[in-house]
Order: sequence, then structure tokens, then C-alpha cells
Amino acid sequence: MTPRTQQETNSKPLISGRNSTFTPSIYPVQQVRIGEREFRDASRRKSERWTVRTPTKRDIVARLERVSAEDGLRLKQCCSAFRVLTCGQHTLRSYPTFRCKKPFCPDCAAERANRLGRQTEAKIAEAMRTHKGRLCLLTLTMKNAATLDGGLVKLKNAFTKFKRRKEFKEHIKGYFGAFEYTFNPKTNDFHVHLHLIILRGKFWNQSDISDVWRDVTGDSFIVDIREIKDAHKGVKEVCKYPMKPADLMTMPDDKFLEVVKMKKGTRMFISGGCFYNVKLDDDADDAADDNVFSQFADLTEGDACPFCKEELFDVLVNRQQHIGLHELNSMPNLIKNNSS
Ligand SMILES: [Zn+2]
Ligand SMILES: [Zn+2]
Repeated sequence: MTPRTQQETNSKPLISGRNSTFTPSIYPVQQVRIGEREFRDASRRKSERWTVRTPTKRDIVARLERVSAEDGLRLKQCCSAFRVLTCGQHTLRSYPTFRCKKPFCPDCAAERANRLGRQTEAKIAEAMRTHKGRLCLLTLTMKNAATLDGGLVKLKNAFTKFKRRKEFKEHIKGYFGAFEYTFNPKTNDFHVHLHLIILRGKFWNQSDISDVWRDVTGDSFIVDIREIKDAHKGVKEVCKYPMKPADLMTMPDDKFLEVVKMKKGTRMFISGGCFYNVKLDDDADDAADDNVFSQFADLTEGDACPFCKEELFDVLVNRQQHIGLHELNSMPNLIKNNSS
């Protein structure tokens, strides 16, 4: 749950009011960032609030190498080199030569959050054109669980019962949600919860939801529901990383391994009702599709840059150069300075 005070000055609501028409958001070049930059920005904001330093990818690699050398190497290689299509001033496309696609990898988690956010927003807007109601953010929590898998299974089962209840069907027209887990080092257990974007028909108050939730879980009753004015923010809240990187560092080795070894393909997203078509390719199999503007997908080396008409070229850069590229957006200098 994010504090309500979190304001984003330049994010415009994509869906405001039931009759508004949806214009697909065009993400400007500057915003196409690959993991590291997003992650660093996020960690900078967080570190102001937290006394614990947010770990960098290097910290996580170091920790992982100690418990599982093979996974450590994969994480290290992930996003260590990038292929970039650029004119020298504008970056049209850039993608890493290798992605580990692990949920605990800051690069892959950020990429996934961005990609899913874009997809979800478009699909929700589409559903809102034919269905009336209010968009709300609903959070369902479970009592802490000793194991991550156990906690997730319990929550999933509880939600299955929850959505079959007549109260649910009466009030909720569509839902889309993602699981999130945090770790509590004091009690040494996981806190698993579910963030949902719902399209609410009839008003449903928090204490009534809580009663139903307690009924299906037996012991958990903490729920939160709030209307969202800004679909973009709501989607961001739901599609964020499944786990805080800081949590990874406070876990004992056995818990850390549990996260690392979590079954591949464990479903972390659910949807239903009028949002049923919010189908997400959670594991996009083509890494080359990362951060590709759909409108630029056909461009190749030798074509003209759509912004400045200069010729585009394809270049392989390392991680450091890639970060620099996105910060300075001045390719030629970078190549000159860094190639040796
Ligand atoms: Zn990765
Ligand atoms: Zn250009």
C-alpha cells in the first residue's frame, strides 16, 4: 500500500471518468530506461526514508554467489551488455543480450513492471469503454507464512473462494491483480498479499469486505480498498516488483534460496470478469522485445531516425556505457571515450 501523499506531477490520468476516450500513451525516448536506471532512481527515493541502504544488483549477485554459484553467474551476466539502435542522439531501441528473468533481479523486475504496466493500462482502458463502474485498488493480506510457497498457495486458494462468493459477484465487475511478498526478519516469515485493480459496480465498504475475507481465510481480515482517480498510478502500484530488493539481504540463507529457487512459471498475475482479457505474457520469450516502441519495431540499421532523419546504426555497448547513454543521450562521445 502506498501512502496517498505520493504525487507524480507529470503523470496524466489515462482514464478519467467513464466516458473519456483512451489515447494510447506514447512513452518519450527519455523514459525508455532499462532496469538499472529505474532501479537506482527508486532506490534513491527509498534510501531517504530507510535507514537500511537499498542493495545494488552487485550486492545481490555477491550474496547469491555464496549460496548458489550457478544462479549467481546468471544474475551477473544478465544485462551486462546491450544492443542499441541509435542515430547518435536518439535511442530508438535497446535491449540486453541476455536476461535472467528472475523476479529477484532488479533489472528484470523493473523491465517486467514497465512492460506489464503498459500492457495492463491499455487493456483496462479497453474494458472501461464498454463497462461502467469505478476503478478501485483492493489489497488483500494474509497472516504471515513460514514458507513463501506455502503462503502463496494459501492466498491463491483463499482468493479462489473469495471470488466465488455472491458478495464478490454483486460488487465486482472485473479484476486484475498481482501477488507481492515481503519478508519480516524479526519473525523470520513471509508476508504475502494480493494487490488488485477492480472495476466496482455497487459500493462495497471496507468492513464488509473484511468480513467476507475473514470468512474465506479463517484468520486474516486486513483488507484495504480505495478509489483510484489515476489508472496509471493504480496500474503502477499493482505491477511493481513482487519483492523489495532490501528484503533479499535481510533473509537467512534458507529463505533466500527459497526465493531463488521458486518454481519457474509460478503464476503471479490473475485476472477475471470484464478484465478477463487482461492477458499478460508474464514471461515474454523474446528478450529482443524489451523496451521496443511498437511504432519503431520495424526500424533497422540504415533507416532514417524518425526524429532527426540521421542514419540509424546498431551498436553493442556494455552496462556502463548503456547507463551513460541513457543519462547523456549522446552516443558518439561515449563510444569515443570508452572504447579501448
Ligand atoms: Zn535479470
Ligand atoms: Zn535522431
